[in-house]
Amino acid sequence: MSELSAKAIVLLGDGAGDRPVPQLQGQTPLEAQATPALDEIAKGGECGLMDPIAPGIPAGSDTAHLSLLGYDPYTYYTGRGPFEARGIGMRVQAGDVAFRCNFATVDDDWTVLNRRAGRIKEKEGTPELAAAVNTAAGVIEGVQCAFKESVEHRGALVLHGEGLDPRVTDADPHTENSKVLEVRAEDPAAAKTARVVNHWIRRTYEALKDHPVNADRKWPANIVLPRGVGVAPHLKPFQAEHAMSGAMIVEVALIQGLGEYLEMDVIRVPGATGGYDTDEMAIAQAVVEAHASHDFVLCNIKCPDLGGHDGSWEKKQAAIAKLDRAAGYLLDHIDFDHTVMVVTADHSTPVAVKDHSGDPVAIVAYGVGTRPDDVSRYGERPCARGGLCRIRGVDVIRILSNLTGAQKKFGS
Ligand code: ZN
Ligand code: ZN
Repeated sequence: MSELSAKAIVLLGDGAGDRPVPQLQGQTPLEAQATPALDEIAKGGECGLMDPIAPGIPAGSDTAHLSLLGYDPYTYYTGRGPFEARGIGMRVQAGDVAFRCNFATVDDDWTVLNRRAGRIKEKEGTPELAAAVNTAAGVIEGVQCAFKESVEHRGALVLHGEGLDPRVTDADPHTENSKVLEVRAEDPAAAKTARVVNHWIRRTYEALKDHPVNADRKWPANIVLPRGVGVAPHLKPFQAEHAMSGAMIVEVALIQGLGEYLEMDVIRVPGATGGYDTDEMAIAQAVVEAHASHDFVLCNIKCPDLGGHDGSWEKKQAAIAKLDRAAGYLLDHIDFDHTVMVVTADHSTPVAVKDHSGDPVAIVAYGVGTRPDDVSRYGERPCARGGLCRIRGVDVIRILSNLTGAQKKFGS
């Protein structure tokens, strides 16, 4: 830990931003849900709106987190696969090509019947299936193909060898009742990579279609479909970049992998499931603990995003209530005379859209050095009237590091 005048926390409700919902009398889920702690933070802090990347750009969780951590995604983003792979403990070296993957269910003609093989529970049978895949498809054309299961239907594939190139298309058709797509090279230099991946997919099917683990499954996990290709990013470690020691408490491997690349302390909290049932109080306690030993802590609670993807304002409101309880715990247990905290979302996931959108999200900076404004409620429209006005994701860390004393003077 360095000698700064204050410490910083970023608390994110994943996908918490939204649009007016007719069934909520035109309020957003954040506006409609009772959030006493978030309102207290808004009242005592400096509010505004934040475009995670730029106005109107729907951000992925990965690109949004890059931006919020001060790395412009247009410069640094090299694809999702490497983050997912690193998040589950795989190595992705320079020259490697990495994919995120889904176990899926296909029929004999490779029509996708279920993209997530019925959303496997935790890791039921998937380590065995992954072992079978690696035995059947460990090396193709001299390229080492390493596959590892993540949670539920997810996994990652890392290709290591000569002459690889990430300019290839996805195999996952992204919809059901469509055929598995042939992976195509978008540049002649990627022809070998496309060939290897197509061959690998064929071998996963052969290894899994009659695998005993699948015998009793309604949706047999009988193929693995790669997508989200990428190469290892070049990222300066967080502490070297920002002169603050950093910890990360997030629930999904994708963002944990980003934290590993940035050499942050990635803390995995028992009970943090990434689902609606997550233990938000265990997460909040972990933030307080990490705060004691780090200058900067980023925490993301995943479930509001799930409510958005599921198109359910009720579930999204229940998830926001969890975020509020975590925020309340931080209010009670952090010394805000020596800490500045930003509460915001990594992007909007409107229930009407069921996916990420480019709408700006509510943001508040609270604690030492901030200038409280007249806003007294947390939500998209109340915060729009605040003193922080409208900023971009990449601004957040600079606003924080200015208040912690980590930001250097520009000029003399
Ligand atoms: Zn997100
Ligand atoms: Zn999402």
